[in-house]
Amino acid sequence: MAKNILIVEDEKPIAEIIKFNLEKEGYKAFIAYDGEDGLHKAITLNPDLILLDVMLPKLDGFQVCREIRKTLTVPILMLTAKEEEVDKVLGFEMGADDYITKPFGMRELLARVKANLRRMDVNIDNKTKGVISIGGITIDFSKYEVQKNGKVIDLTLREFELLKFLAVQAEQVFTREQLLRQVWGYEYYGDIRTVDVTVRRLREKIEDDSGTPEYIMTKRGVGYYFRRS
Ligand code: CA
Repeated sequence: MAKNILIVEDEKPIAEIIKFNLEKEGYKAFIAYDGEDGLHKAITLNPDLILLDVMLPKLDGFQVCREIRKTLTVPILMLTAKEEEVDKVLGFEMGADDYITKPFGMRELLARVKANLRRMDVNIDNKTKGVISIGGITIDFSKYEVQKNGKVIDLTLREFELLKFLAVQAEQVFTREQLLRQVWGYEYYGDIRTVDVTVRRLREKIEDDSGTPEYIMTKRGVGYYFRRS
């Protein structure tokens, strides 16, 4: 069955060319031209993926993202107008899974869409793999839930997947490039700073003191690993 993709973008020509290209690839695409309509269509259509512009009339992309995250785990790919770290960090804070900087090529966009959809499929396949506990952290794959010392921690889908990937292979060090490929799923277009931003967010949520982590460790000059404490 064709995957449904919602495009939330107020610049009509951009929205339409994205729709055209997605449909050429066999997806079903829907457009919302402002934040309010985007939120409404996200809830009513329950799409498989959302492309969400940041600068939008009525509600901006960050607000829409935050609202969507209250009810849906759908992958959200933010379209940011400028290459500013603050946008990316804010996007991840609001629960976005990925971002792409304007102007972007259609090939790049399609690769990202495909990677994010594939990741979602893998998640569904892995739903029955059970629970692992390391130290005070418990990861329940079927419930998509992480607990620390018995308390549920609120993670975005991407944070969950990064934690899961590292914890399943505890003590093994991965480079940022490897993590980008394995957790984000794209090989050619990724920005490795994405990994650092997500690690930072994850540490803030699961570590007692994110400045001196006990779970997600940095191997200086190499990358990251999960410590089996
Ligand atoms: Ca815009």
